[in-house]
Amino acid sequence: MSKKIGVLGGGQLGRMLALAGYPLGLHFHFFDPSVDAPVSELAPHIARDYIDMDGIHEFQQRVDVVTYEFENVPVQIVQSIAEHTPVFPPAIALETAQDRVKEKTFFHHLSIPTPSFTTVDSLVDLYSACEQVGLPGILKTRRMGYDGKGQVQIDSTEDISLAWQKLGSTVDRPAHLIYERFVPFDAELSILAVRSTIGEIAYYPLIQNTHLDGILRTSLAPAFNDDSALQEMARDYAHRILEEMQYVGVLAIEFFKLGNTLLANEMAPRVHNSGHWTIEGSETSQFENHLRAILGLPLGSTAMRGHVAMFNLIGATPPRADVLGVPNAHLHLYAKEARKGRKLGHITIRTDSEAELPDLMANIQSLLNT
Ligand code: AMP
Repeated sequence: MSKKIGVLGGGQLGRMLALAGYPLGLHFHFFDPSVDAPVSELAPHIARDYIDMDGIHEFQQRVDVVTYEFENVPVQIVQSIAEHTPVFPPAIALETAQDRVKEKTFFHHLSIPTPSFTTVDSLVDLYSACEQVGLPGILKTRRMGYDGKGQVQIDSTEDISLAWQKLGSTVDRPAHLIYERFVPFDAELSILAVRSTIGEIAYYPLIQNTHLDGILRTSLAPAFNDDSALQEMARDYAHRILEEMQYVGVLAIEFFKLGNTLLANEMAPRVHNSGHWTIEGSETSQFENHLRAILGLPLGSTAMRGHVAMFNLIGATPPRADVLGVPNAHLHLYAKEARKGRKLGHITIRTDSEAELPDLMANIQSLLNT
């Protein structure tokens, strides 16, 4: 009966996975280079570098199945673990998601629309990319970009050389970049889907997200009550990816909504920030369903419990008592030291009355503005 789950990465996503898994009688072991990772007070944790094979070996010996909550774990490490221990999601999903060009090429292979894009490896490439793809656009690093890091917007040809200086011109760093057409989207949406080892699939409803400086600030679910065509489209795209990769676990896909179309921006082969509201807002949270999926257990219902909004706490946290004084507010803190731009926690508001949500949200927003 006892199942030991090994998790690569020990941040807040790992912390919430463990918190969802303990009631199911599961045990957790984490691997994260940082000694004071958010999971360190919750579960045994090996604090070694990801490429420390002795550490990885020790970790592997302790667990029955491995998953990951950090997207930049070296793929080779995941592949080497998979030789002896089941690892979910599959390494191919991680490898694809780590490179924006591979990811968008993969979307095209499945006929999932994306913003137009091209690769850029030199200043000359960048000039022709801007001409071919069009302006305005965004120059991004292909790898290791997150929360808007490694991105520069290009509005006109005058911006090109500065953008190149910022991202492409460092001599000791090969310039593996992607240039994408800027999408004047109506909304940013995401979908979370989950597939188990026995092929069972479930979807959460579309989520509407707001970003500032490239960092997720708020998520609203459901995104559009009545737009069943968009829901259907998002599910269809998610389904194609899940089946093509024989995917196992939770998968998040982020879209730009433009009119009646969805353009895929990126996918995350893991539980996702835009799904934190599922802890209170769904019959079964994304964290529990991820665990169910990788263990081949029946998936839980993804039915919504009312209307939900999630606010990320970035850089600072309001006093606990102030948050808990707001009706229907649920506070989650990640045991992280405060630092500018860092995700320190989140607040979820859940209500049965859609009409009540804006006032509750305004209460939280006023706490975040002070
Ligand atoms: P990313 O790291 O690709 O998720 O980008 C972070 C945020 O930057 C997105 O959530 C959008 O708000 C914005 N962004 C990225 N790519 C584009 C694009 N091609 N067009 C418009 N906005 C974008």
